[in-house]
Amino acid sequence: MRGRIVKGIGGFYYVKVVSDAEGPESETYECKAKGIFRKDNRKPLVGDEVIVDVLDREKRLGNVRELLPRHSELIRPAVANADQAVVIFSIVKPRPNFNLLDRFLIMMEQQGVDCIICFSKEDLDENGEGGKYRQIYENCGYRTLTISAKYKKGIRELRELLSGRITVAAGPSGVGKSSLINCLQSEIVMEIGEISTKIERGKHTTRHSELIDIGENTYILDTPGFSSLGLFELEKEQLAGYYHEFDSCEKFCKFGGCSHINEQNCGVKEALAKNLISEIRYENYRLLYEELDKVRYRGGRRN
Ligand code: GDP
Ligand code: ZN
Repeated sequence: MRGRIVKGIGGFYYVKVVSDAEGPESETYECKAKGIFRKDNRKPLVGDEVIVDVLDREKRLGNVRELLPRHSELIRPAVANADQAVVIFSIVKPRPNFNLLDRFLIMMEQQGVDCIICFSKEDLDENGEGGKYRQIYENCGYRTLTISAKYKKGIRELRELLSGRITVAAGPSGVGKSSLINCLQSEIVMEIGEISTKIERGKHTTRHSELIDIGENTYILDTPGFSSLGLFELEKEQLAGYYHEFDSCEKFCKFGGCSHINEQNCGVKEALAKNLISEIRYENYRLLYEELDKVRYRGGRRN
């Protein structure tokens, strides 16, 4: 049978297979993956499409026999076949950590995945800060949204962006990621009128990545909340390449290879002074640049 790995814990893979007879009804098999490593030299990942040998139909036990080709593969978080990511930060309670947001955006771009930025808890945004945050990141070329899981605002728009895709959902804990996923799930339950199929997610915290069905060919990959992200395989000279709003002003830098930090006649700093570049973004750039500089120095890679 053909299916998709929705979760992997302690050497077991949970594979959702579509049973042939009863149409869209799907069943989850608990599987081992004996022999896969030797044969394929690949570790099965959440999101993988697989062929399963059924060992026990009653108990829903099986063995993953084959991994089907992947169209994408992420290392952080480990997931196969993701099409895009949505990163969630609440506007208030807690306020966004923009440094963490930028780290996430860089990490996803390094892995070739497009990011949608979702600012949540819009109902608590008394000063309209969400709109300003959106503007900052829209100016850098990102797709942004404001949502409220509590009042189901912005959910339809988000659903349109997710439709037909596998989307990694990420964010620090407490931003309302579970509430949002519940919201996306409960809507589909209402649409197809099968309350019984709703997965009881309750208040559990996500410790493992898990693929969640939220509509036809539409999945969310729920990932554990994070509070820090290191930058890997990035040289400080490459950092500016991830700050796309610098692109149009770098040509005004006097010096080739300008770091946009200490140099005179820097196009980026001039744009910053004219408010064409956000202070928040520039400050993150500077901090990350220093961090990359230190890492390189400590690692003894400077020559
Ligand atoms: P997670 O840790 O990111 O999964 O966050 P949760 O979904 O568990 O939500 C964390 C807290 O924020 C809970 O107390 C939620 O009730 C609250 N919360 C989530 N979404 C919203 C929202 O849209 N508006 C408001 N006011 N509170 C929310
Ligand atoms: Zn410069």
